Amino acid sequence: MAFNLDAYIRKVPDFPKKGILFYDITSILTAPEAFCFCIEAMVDLYSKKNIDAVAAIEARGFVFAAPFAARMGIPLLLIRKKGKLPGITLSKKYDLEYAQAEIEIHREDVPEGKKILLLDDLIATGGTLNASRELLKAGGAEVTEIFGVVGLPFLNYDKILAPTPVTTLIQYHGE
Ligand code: AMP
Repeated sequence: MAFNLDAYIRKVPDFPKKGILFYDITSILTAPEAFCFCIEAMVDLYSKKNIDAVAAIEARGFVFAAPFAARMGIPLLLIRKKGKLPGITLSKKYDLEYAQAEIEIHREDVPEGKKILLLDDLIATGGTLNASRELLKAGGAEVTEIFGVVGLPFLNYDKILAPTPVTTLIQYHGE
C-alpha cells in the first residue's frame, strides 16, 4: 500500500482495560488525507461489486459508512445498540467476553432479497459483525461482503465470519 495508513492510527495500550491494545481511528478522522484515502479505497473495492446497500455498526462504523453510501448512491442501514431506534425493530442478542449485548435495526429498513455490505471500523473477534449478519438475515437480506478499516486477524475473525468474504485496509498481528 503506498499510503501509510498505520501512521494515522493511534495505539493506546491498556484501554479499555489492562492487556488490550486499542487501535483508535479518531486520529484518521482528524486527518482529511487519511479519511479520504479510506473512503476512496472502499469505493475502489466495492464499486464493481454487486452491492445494493451498506449496513454499519454503531458508532464508529457509521462514520466510514455514511460518506461511502453517499459516494456509491446506495442506502445506509444503521445497526444500533438496544433502545436507540424509535420504530419497529428486529433485535439480536450476542455474547461478549463476560456479558451479553443486544443490537437492533429498523425492520422496514432491511431490504428483502438484497445484497448487503456490512461494515465496522475495526474487526476484532468478529462477534458483533456475526450478530449483525444474523440480524440482517432475519430481515430477509443477504450479507455478501464484510469490511473493516482495521483487522486483527490473530483473533480469528475469519473463522466466525466464514463464508462471507472479509476485507480490511490494514491488519495488525498482535503485540
Ligand atoms: P468484535 O465484536 O470483537 O469484533 O469487536 C467489537 C467492537 O469493539 C468493534 O466494533 C471495535 O470497534 C471494538 N474493538 C474491539 N477490540 C478493539 C481494539 N483492540 N481496538 C479498537 N477497537 C476495538
